[in-house]
Amino acid sequence: MGFSTKHIFITGGVTSSLGKGIIAASLAKLLQSRGISVTIQKFDPYLNIDPGTLNPYEHGECYVTEDGAETDLDLGHYERFLNATTSQDNNVTTGRIYNNVITKERKGEFLGKTVQVVPHITDEIKNNFYKLGQDGKYDVIITEIGGCVGDIESLPFVEAVRQARWDLGPNNILVIHLTLIPYLSAAKELKTKPTQHSVKQLLEAGVQPDILVCRTERHLPLDVKKKIALFCNVQLNCVIEAMDADSIYDVPLLMKKERLDERVMSKLKISSKTNTELEQWKEFLGKLKNPTMEVDIALIGKYVSLPDAYKSIIESFIHAGTSLECKVNLHLISSEEINIDNVEKKLNEMDGVLVAPGFGVRGLEGKLEAAKFARENEIPYFGICLGMQIAVIEFARNVMGLTDASSTEINPDCKDPVIFLMAEQKDITQMGGTMRLGAYPCELVKGTKAFTAYGKQKITERHRHRYEFNNKYLKDFENHGMLASGKNPDKGLVEIIELKDHPWFVGTQFHPEYKSTVLNPHPLFVRFIKAVGEKKQSKS
Ligand code: GLN
Repeated sequence: MGFSTKHIFITGGVTSSLGKGIIAASLAKLLQSRGISVTIQKFDPYLNIDPGTLNPYEHGECYVTEDGAETDLDLGHYERFLNATTSQDNNVTTGRIYNNVITKERKGEFLGKTVQVVPHITDEIKNNFYKLGQDGKYDVIITEIGGCVGDIESLPFVEAVRQARWDLGPNNILVIHLTLIPYLSAAKELKTKPTQHSVKQLLEAGVQPDILVCRTERHLPLDVKKKIALFCNVQLNCVIEAMDADSIYDVPLLMKKERLDERVMSKLKISSKTNTELEQWKEFLGKLKNPTMEVDIALIGKYVSLPDAYKSIIESFIHAGTSLECKVNLHLISSEEINIDNVEKKLNEMDGVLVAPGFGVRGLEGKLEAAKFARENEIPYFGICLGMQIAVIEFARNVMGLTDASSTEINPDCKDPVIFLMAEQKDITQMGGTMRLGAYPCELVKGTKAFTAYGKQKITERHRHRYEFNNKYLKDFENHGMLASGKNPDKGLVEIIELKDHPWFVGTQFHPEYKSTVLNPHPLFVRFIKAVGEKKQSKS
């Protein structure tokens, strides 16, 4: 077997939430800036086939790729850092691995054999490790192994990494272990023991890490680095300090200062093809840190106690705000806390309102009140997916006089189902992977706010929904001043609505937040923040 693609595996130890995804994306960014083609994939140890069926409280937002895969939110970081797309093949779970193996078993592919974790599950894991490298598109593939070393469910992945060393051979594979060096304030000391233990666990599984990336809130003195190197069996210059950063977007430059990319390249025996020195990235950071104005925007949803549930929206505000040199102070407000009596008090100080995507009836009243308040008070409004559907229902009830208008997701028996189940969804009984998912084309109407934002007529955006605007009512809506400014050209499905007589009131059935990157802020977020800034100025 000949391998031209080099593989980097990133494991984590001591605790979760150390930021493996950000380290992976930062390393990829550094390699990309040197002209090396790179992609990142994530292997998650849980048994769901994909995170589409998980409540956002479990693992944060479900990120959707162009090809309609429901994936881990780390893929969002990969796309935002690299300005490149990922696909179904970039996120694999234990559930998918087992599903593949069991399907093969039923087909008789292992006829006569006992099917076992080693070698059948580990072989399937390895096939998936190597899949993206098959067409020679990438010089380097970075694989992030989810969870922590030592977890029962991570074991088959770590075993597959051990075996991969033998498949790939020297200079073609590298293992980076991300770990924590806690500071004990009572002892005034940085402690290396948890790291030693976690590396021991890796060693017990037969994997020697080549590089240790050590998360820390204090600089690691030379003697601490030496101790880590000695006890963990790595070279001193491969003990990399990863200090806590103000912004995730600082991490690529911090890692460059620590020479992580140089260590990786020397160990894999690869050299730079070009060197852009990350000019655009630095320009972005310069603007991010020196805003010339700020605005306050309410993000209204039902999962606000876990901001990771809205990761892509939050990052989209950072990208778009930075491009306008504007700091966006996002106020995450639970839709369940808003009602007719307090909506004014809650939103009066806000310069803009975003109603977030979501499912089910909980918090509905709060979202409807927020949309009404924004509409009536000319506060810029951005509704995404459910947030668009809410705007439609509110308008039907309070402007068009359809008092029993609703979505059939909320009230299946309502008199005026202005939002209803898509025809293609009617016979679906399985929940996993069956929504309208991924990229679809949309055509914009000239002269609308949507058209002004994009500056072109044909766009594509990513989706994740089952319900849609009911076109039976479209004429009535347009007569009252709510326009369909974007439609799917094949099915006529309404993708964008906006108000004619309002500074900026836009709702999208799709999720623009999945396509925003550091180098390509999303035009709708940019226009929304612009309108919000103007609203703020007009107030003062
Ligand atoms: N629940 C709505 C639907 O399925 C909206 C989905 C969403 O906001 N992602 O159509």
